[in-house]
Amino acid sequence: MRVAVIGGGIAGLSAAFHLAAGGAEPVVLEGSPQVGGKVRQARLGDLTVDVGAEAMLARRPEALDLVRAVGLADDLVAPEPVPAMVFSRGRLRPMPPTVLGVPADLDALASSGILAGEVISTPVPVPQHDVSVAEFVAERLGREVVDRLVEPLLGGVYAGQADRLSLLAAAAPIAALGPDLVVGAARARAAAPVDAGPRLMGLRGGVGRLVGALVERGGFEVRTQATVRRVRRDADGWELVVGPTTAAVLERFDAVVMAAPAPAAARLLAEAAPRAAFALAGVDYASMVVVSFLLEGADLPAGTGFLVPPVESTTIKAATFSTRKWAWLAEAADSATVVRTSVGRAGETALLQRDDASLTEAALADLRAIVEPEGRIGEVAASVVQRWGGGLPQYEVGHLDVVRRVAEDVATVPGLEVCGAAYEGVGIAAVVGTARAAAERILAG
Ligand SMILES: Cc1cc2nc3c(=O)[nH]c(=O)nc-3n(C[C@H](O)[C@H](O)[C@H](O)COP(=O)(O)OP(=O)(O)OC[C@H]3O[C@@H](n4cnc5c(N)ncnc54)[C@H](O)[C@@H]3O)c2cc1C
Repeated sequence: MRVAVIGGGIAGLSAAFHLAAGGAEPVVLEGSPQVGGKVRQARLGDLTVDVGAEAMLARRPEALDLVRAVGLADDLVAPEPVPAMVFSRGRLRPMPPTVLGVPADLDALASSGILAGEVISTPVPVPQHDVSVAEFVAERLGREVVDRLVEPLLGGVYAGQADRLSLLAAAAPIAALGPDLVVGAARARAAAPVDAGPRLMGLRGGVGRLVGALVERGGFEVRTQATVRRVRRDADGWELVVGPTTAAVLERFDAVVMAAPAPAAARLLAEAAPRAAFALAGVDYASMVVVSFLLEGADLPAGTGFLVPPVESTTIKAATFSTRKWAWLAEAADSATVVRTSVGRAGETALLQRDDASLTEAALADLRAIVEPEGRIGEVAASVVQRWGGGLPQYEVGHLDVVRRVAEDVATVPGLEVCGAAYEGVGIAAVVGTARAAAERILAG
């Protein structure tokens, strides 16, 4: 069975991996010159660093299973167990225990100084319908908890805005806390097994190595610069138009796995699955930029980095002290320091129109202003800017209905499956989970 896998991000590559392992003949059709999508590496001075995803959730099996299946098990590494901080009200402050920003200990929160006011917890029953994360938390704990704790934590995952993100799709652990959020958060944290192991894992050499390993050991065909322009189903299977506009060719397949982001999937499925296409067309994306620095003579404050609440109005929304977080990188960097900053949230499109030099300058200025009262940034030996236009899908209020509508329509079309970050979670583990399930349905079909 020849299967077209449209999109060579981690979803497409892992779908192809499972299809090939199950005896099918997948062909990955990737529009850009390189596979991997948002899992990508770049040179920073003499180092190779992740400039997209850099860690994988370890509390669910899919990503780590894939790492083991492609032979990288020995290179799995946990980040250093050092907490991150929050830059709030003029200084870096320790992050108190929370569940996605919902405080589990009001004394620890008060002594962190992150908030100006006192938190008064008002228990309110959890609604049956979806609401925004901001509305849900503000009603129970006040707006400042949203602005200075929930926003930066959700921003770190979705680059999104709590006023638009769905409680049920983007913050299910908060919805599960019950009517009294603080009591629920304390209970949830106490219930977490002590020996649960690290929440996240990385790879020695960077998570980006997963892409190369999938391509080398996957046993499937990969074509780059192979944009899919049209997808049509007829009585004998599928006909795709593939390639540059001036030299596009028709190709036939027995089945299709759509692993491109929602806007492309919406365009391409308009004929074969119009109701799914319509639902996907409504999924918005946040664009962002990752600016990485190689620093000489830096002396960073404690922690693996910091988050910045949007109300602080900085250009950067987070910084990771990568050489403190990852021992393999510290070793490779020798005496130098790697810091990775994230710029941009959903709706901040103007920022991304700035050129690389101006983004680098703004990120560095923020880094200095935030870090230098307590440490030193030193000299910049190298920097690299990675733009992520359409970087992260926004799971807005009602997203679970979008996913249900897509799944229902796709299920009526024989030989079609969808997978990727637009559906059941944006992290690598969730994405790989959707890809594996899509491949299994095709193989069973
Ligand atoms: C800066 C950043 C940091 C992140 N950090 C983490 C992290 O630390 N941990 C984590 O778990 N997740 C992280 N994520 C999220 C995660 O990386 C992504 O959600 C995931 O990699 C998306 O995979 P995907 O295959 O669904 O989509 P993509 O990576 O977007 O891949 C889709 C591919 O489809 C191709 N395509 C589009 N249209 C067509 C077409 N018409 N024809 C052919 N090809 C097409 C695109 O070129 C692209 O290569 C991060 C994301 C970003 C942006």
